[in-house]
This record gives sequence, C-alpha cells and structure tokens, in this order.
Amino acid sequence: MKNNKLVEITNLISQKQRFLITSHVNPDGDNLGSVIALKLVLEQLGKETVVVIDDEIPSCFSFLHSIDEIIRYEDGLDIDFDMCFTLDCSDLDRIAKVKNIIKSKAIINIDHHGDNPYFGEYNLVKNTAATAEIIYQLIDALEEAKLNKDIAAALATGLITDTGSFRYSNTTSKTHKIMAELLNYDVDTAEISKKVFDTHSYQSLVLRGKVLQNLQIDDSKKIAWVKVSQDLLSEVGATMEDTEGIVNYPRSLAGVEIAILFKETEEEIIRVSLRSNSYFPVDKLAHKFGGGGHPRAAGCSIDANLNEAIEEVVNAAKKELKQVR
Ligand code: 5GP
Ligand code: MN
Repeated sequence: MKNNKLVEITNLISQKQRFLITSHVNPDGDNLGSVIALKLVLEQLGKETVVVIDDEIPSCFSFLHSIDEIIRYEDGLDIDFDMCFTLDCSDLDRIAKVKNIIKSKAIINIDHHGDNPYFGEYNLVKNTAATAEIIYQLIDALEEAKLNKDIAAALATGLITDTGSFRYSNTTSKTHKIMAELLNYDVDTAEISKKVFDTHSYQSLVLRGKVLQNLQIDDSKKIAWVKVSQDLLSEVGATMEDTEGIVNYPRSLAGVEIAILFKETEEEIIRVSLRSNSYFPVDKLAHKFGGGGHPRAAGCSIDANLNEAIEEVVNAAKKELKQVR
C-alpha cells in the first residue's frame, strides 16, 4: 500500500459516480467538517453521495449544512456505490460496523494521523493539523469545484476543532493561510467557536464540577486524570456528549505533561482520551492498548472496569514517562 498523489485522487473522482463517505465513531468537528465539505463538493460536481457513520452525531454540530443527511449505521443497511472515502481515520477499525457496508469496494483513505498504515486501496495521508486541510487541498485541485460559504464553514469547523482554535502545536502557517482563505466566504468563526466550545447544558456544567472534585495526580505531579462513570452520569442526568472537552482540565493543570480522561461507556468498556502538553508521545501509549492518534492527542478502548483501566493506563504512563525523561 502506498500514499497517492492528489491528482490520482482527483482522477478517481472524475471516473466514478457514486461515493460512500464515512468517518470514525465518536465524531468530532474535523470528522464531520471534512465529511460535509467532501459531500457538498462531490454533489457540486454532479456526483451521488451517501454518508454513513456508526454513531450518534453530537448536537453541537447541527449548524453544519446537510448534517441531517448523515445516516447512522444499522444492520442490514444496503447501499449501492462505486467507491468509499474514509476520512480522519487512523485505522479501518475506527469506522466500526460501516465496514459491513463497504464489503470489497475500493477505499480512498484520507487522513492526517502519523500512524496511519495506508489501509486503503488509495491513500492520501498527510501531516496536516486537520483532515479538513487535506480536503481543502483536494477541492483546490478539483478543477470544477468551487468553495462556497457552506463548504468553507465545514472546513473551518475541522480546522478550529482539531487545532483547539489554533492553539495546539499542530497549527502551522499553512493552517492559518487556509483559514484566511476560508474567511473570504463569510464564515462566522465566532459563532462556530461559541457552538462547539462555549455552549454547555446545565448537566454538563454540573458534571464538570463533580468530575473535578475527583481530579487525581501521580506522585511526580506530571500525570493527571479524571473519570466519568455511568453512575455519575445518571446521578447528574448527563450524557456522554456532555463529557466533551473535560480532558482539557487535567491538561491545564500547571506542571502536568500527560492528561487522561476515563469514560465508562458501557459496563467493562472504558474509552480513554490521552493528551500531552509538550513532549510525551501519547499515541505510543495508546498503541499499547490497541488505540492510536497523534503525539499530543490520542485514544483507546479498554475492556475492563473503570478502576482496573485506570490502574493499567496510569501505570503504563508512569513507566513510559520515566523512559522519555
Ligand atoms: P479523543 O480523545 O478526542 O477521542 O481522540 C483524540 C485523537 O485520538 C483523535 O485524533 C482520534 O481520532 C484518536 N483516537 C481516539 N481513540 C482512538 C482509538 O481507539 N484508535 C485510534 N486509532 N485512534 C483513536
Ligand atoms: Mn482529525
């Protein structure tokens, strides 16, 4: 498997008519922004598109154009298409059961994760801040495609979310140049940021308070973690969607290098979000547990109870951190 050139992907788009577009479970702004921008641009070119994701779409992204047209995966779903785009997925397992629909059709894998193993028949994997940056380049390379306000807003959402509003170290001058170009299409970035980062349900704020009362830190004071159990969610009346962004609190603690959020999604299934501040590669730690991601933001799932998962991951983090320092 190899990485393809942009022109090879634009040629494929010209040759085919019907495209399935998908992305990872636990959809975020880069996932959805990239999916919507690609959908809108393919439709502009007269192509047929179907978007399927094996998860619920967080309500904070309801402002994205055509977001209601995303189909949630269900067993028995049968879709006719020529090729499938997987966006923002560092491995094929990230699309979960959408794999059942793809069968033996060719995959075009467009992604920005450094650990992407080129799982597609075609691969466009680049070291950019967001997958939306690659979709922008693809649109730029498609002769008949044109940016418009809806496509620009979708791409901007991807850039804003994956760079944490251009604060994270993945932000480059290229990211800013693309954003500057998108702003020519009247994108309301203040509104996007307000909806995505600064709007919380009452239950979400109460949940944050309770979670932070239990903030844990190791002896070195370099690893901080928090947990969200199903019991806590029920007590507060919150949902998993309300946990978005919580990992940024332990990350913001002065002196901390590794921040971890443990979420009990089901009994004995723990979703782990890993973040680091300046030098520790959390993607390597995630790999140890079958996950992946970026050096400063990664994740994995662990089949264990909450306390067992915390012990396993925190111990591994302590060990790895000693070796890095
Ligand atoms: P988050 O903690 O926000 O869910 O994810 C952070 C980053 O890690 C994202 O780039 C996401 O795609 C990646 N990531 C999260 N969970 C997994 C996982 O289970 N496997 C892989 N390969 N990547 C993950
Ligand atoms: Mn991304």
